[in-house]
Amino acid sequence: MRTTVGIVGAGPAGLLLARLLRLAGIDCVVLECRDRAHVERRQRAGVLEQGTADVLRAAGAGERLDREGLRHDGIELRFGRRRHRIDFPGLTGGRSVTVYAQTEVCKDLIALALADGCPPLFHSEVLAVEDVDTPAPRVRFRRGGREEVLECDWVAGCDGFHGVTRGAVPAGVSRVHGRTYPYAWLGILADVPPSHDELVYARHDRGFALLSMRSPSVSRLYLQVPEGTKPEAWTDGEIWAELSRRLETDDDWALRRGPVTQKSVTPMRSYVHEPMRYGRLLLAGDAAHIVPPTGAKGLNLAVGDVVVLARALEHELRTGSTELLDAYSATCLRRVWQAERFCHDMTALLHRAPGATAFDDRLQLARLERVATSRAAATDLAEAYTGFPLG
Ligand SMILES: Cc1cc2nc3c(=O)[nH]c(=O)nc-3n(C[C@H](O)[C@H](O)[C@H](O)COP(=O)(O)OP(=O)(O)OC[C@H]3O[C@@H](n4cnc5c(N)ncnc54)[C@H](O)[C@@H]3O)c2cc1C
Repeated sequence: MRTTVGIVGAGPAGLLLARLLRLAGIDCVVLECRDRAHVERRQRAGVLEQGTADVLRAAGAGERLDREGLRHDGIELRFGRRRHRIDFPGLTGGRSVTVYAQTEVCKDLIALALADGCPPLFHSEVLAVEDVDTPAPRVRFRRGGREEVLECDWVAGCDGFHGVTRGAVPAGVSRVHGRTYPYAWLGILADVPPSHDELVYARHDRGFALLSMRSPSVSRLYLQVPEGTKPEAWTDGEIWAELSRRLETDDDWALRRGPVTQKSVTPMRSYVHEPMRYGRLLLAGDAAHIVPPTGAKGLNLAVGDVVVLARALEHELRTGSTELLDAYSATCLRRVWQAERFCHDMTALLHRAPGATAFDDRLQLARLERVATSRAAATDLAEAYTGFPLG
């Protein structure tokens, strides 16, 4: 099998890259190890920056997003039982975010791929990418029990943090930066209307809590738990009781409870692999970088990467110049590091580290107080949350 761009992974990065390339008239093949239902049901991100929503619209994936996505003009910070709203449009000159689940983004992009007659090859597990430092890279994969080879001009590694493509960069070239955090997020999906119409980020002496949503009838909620916690360790009743405690306010706000339909634990990690290009291999999305979910940036970074990548590949194929591909890694990493900084700062601002002292607690509260009372500090948060410029 042969194509121009071999794309490994049908998460948001791989699916959107394929769509952008098809719109530019560039051949590509997407290889995905899981089945379609798995990709469409994997509960993950839910907050789209304005730039991300605009890219999806321009790619023709905006129809349901505009109908069902929820525009959010702010978030609430909760600490010391008080509520402080961060007004995005007022602080950023009109920017906002859209709550629309990653599952729905993937469904929309897969539907477009089917309509284009180029669906991802599901059940195709990539075993290795080879010869990426030559003009003829190859992707070896297994489908239906048989090994096959995809020959291509470029390979896009969009296979997430646990994928295989990053491993094709020689150890002497890779530079890895990162840290894991000593806590995780226990997340639930519940069939109950959200208890607030915007996301609520709560700092509490017992740990962080987040109230989020997927639709007007489905809530998504998270609790900070110790690293290594198993989801079964918490009953639904215990989760609701703890959420109520951490989100409690001095006014008459109350948490609505409902049936829990999913429960999972997400580890917290910051990670950057440099460079994002080696030879004819280009890494994008979680394959190259991970942020802790506090800043809601992972999916948005993946979208930013593939916009830059699609533009660079189109430029090379039209003009023969690799100028934009040569700049790909540096262009993406500028935005990636801003997101890393923001997500790390939001995490430190809101989570209670094991062994935190009274001094640490007071500093954290002073930082939150600063965001709540200083327009400059709130603007900094609002600008980062609504998104850094693409490429
Ligand atoms: C609980 C949680 C909450 C999150 N919340 C947010 C949020 O609010 N906002 C936000 O922006 N981000 C959020 N994120 C992050 C976001 O979900 C990821 O950044 C995003 O999925 C990255 O997309 P991707 O396409 O790069 O990688 P992935 O979505 O991981 O896709 C990679 C794909 O590659 C496939 N693959 C892997 N290995 C192989 C192989 N060997 N062969 C073939 N295929 C392979 C995988 O099956 C997968 O389909 C959250 C993440 C989690 C876990």
